[in-house]
Amino acid sequence: MTVKAFTPNTHFCKQDIEQLDHSDPLYSLRNEFDLPPGLIYLDGNSLGAMPRTTPAVIDNLLKNQWRDDLNKGWSKHQWLNMPLTIGDKIAQLVGADAGEVAACDSTSINLFKLLCAAIQMRPGRKYIVSETQNFPSDLYIGKSVEDLLQRDVAMKLCPREHLLENIDEECAVVILTHVDFRTGYIHDMEAISRAAAAKGALIIWDLSHSTGVLPVELNHCQVDFAVGCGYKYLNGGPGAPAFLFVSKQHQTQLDQPLRGWLGHENPFLFGIDYHPAAGIKRTLCGTPAVLSLAALEAAIEVLLTQDIHCLREKSMQLTSVFIQLIAQECAEFGFTLLSPTDAHRRGSQVSLGHSHAERIIQALESRNIIADFRAPNILRFGFSPAYVSYVDLWNAVTTLRDIMQNEDF
Ligand SMILES: *Cc1c(COP(=O)(O)O)cnc(C)c1O
Repeated sequence: MTVKAFTPNTHFCKQDIEQLDHSDPLYSLRNEFDLPPGLIYLDGNSLGAMPRTTPAVIDNLLKNQWRDDLNKGWSKHQWLNMPLTIGDKIAQLVGADAGEVAACDSTSINLFKLLCAAIQMRPGRKYIVSETQNFPSDLYIGKSVEDLLQRDVAMKLCPREHLLENIDEECAVVILTHVDFRTGYIHDMEAISRAAAAKGALIIWDLSHSTGVLPVELNHCQVDFAVGCGYKYLNGGPGAPAFLFVSKQHQTQLDQPLRGWLGHENPFLFGIDYHPAAGIKRTLCGTPAVLSLAALEAAIEVLLTQDIHCLREKSMQLTSVFIQLIAQECAEFGFTLLSPTDAHRRGSQVSLGHSHAERIIQALESRNIIADFRAPNILRFGFSPAYVSYVDLWNAVTTLRDIMQNEDF
């Protein structure tokens, strides 16, 4: 299946859209998710939908593992290894090798751990470079590291178009989010990672809006470090553990600041000195969130049944059709397209600008169409290719048209 190049005079009728569902090889994947009947969910980039298997997995863990085995569960069910076994599964989605990914903590905490560790690998360098548009939590973490280090290393923020010129010999670490949460813009991971490497700087990519919807090739792009979120397109559930990636080449030097016992080479010796475990395990801090990890694993299993390139094809097609339908049905209502027009530079979302964005999102919600509002004036529509259909797009856009025609904005 190829992505159609939509010309301005392409016109869709409802039958064309139904035909897209009929020829969609991923259509039946919807059945693996338990969505409320009648709801059109275009917010999987905020909180992914629940896989049908999740309740049984959690129920089994509660009753057959925790209730029956109690503390024997740690060894019998390998609970302590879950961050690494699930990390290996996430590795398959992000172009990493086994032993390079751990599922643990939150994205912000993982960024803190890796940022501190990376700075120590580049002594004497002065800056953490990022862009002003980066996700605020990532910038807050960068700033808190700057404060902790008493400004030996400072955040240097620049607009996106000046990133490359700011990555120079004084830059210790670059922190960037691969897919912009506001607009869906996709950075050129390979070019920026290579540019950083050429100047001797390290790079940490935040994959929160990438993992599970588009192919990421961390090792191919020579990425040093990455972090990402478990509850968006990975569908791990509210507050699901996040993940982190450390390239094999950096693992023996990696000294992360949260030296908890589960990153120790032998936590059960209870020695007074910390000796980091070999490999990715040293990135761990405390006891894993077993219940949440089980839900995350169940959700990742669903995605691993699919070819990520196939998911990406559908995702590009969904965003392209949505943009075309907005142009066709809602041209006169003053929406602006904030996402890239080129599907290859656009993640799995479409953002529209409108001065009444918040009220429009509320009006959609009252008609069972869930998308989200991002300040100050953004309507953000996320399209998980795993469970969004083309008819969902048709219904969402025609409802939006009715709202704009009939309500007083
Ligand atoms: C959602 C998101 C996070 C989430 O951070 P948590 O610490 O897990 O809450 C981080 N970074 C980006 C870019 C995100 O979109």
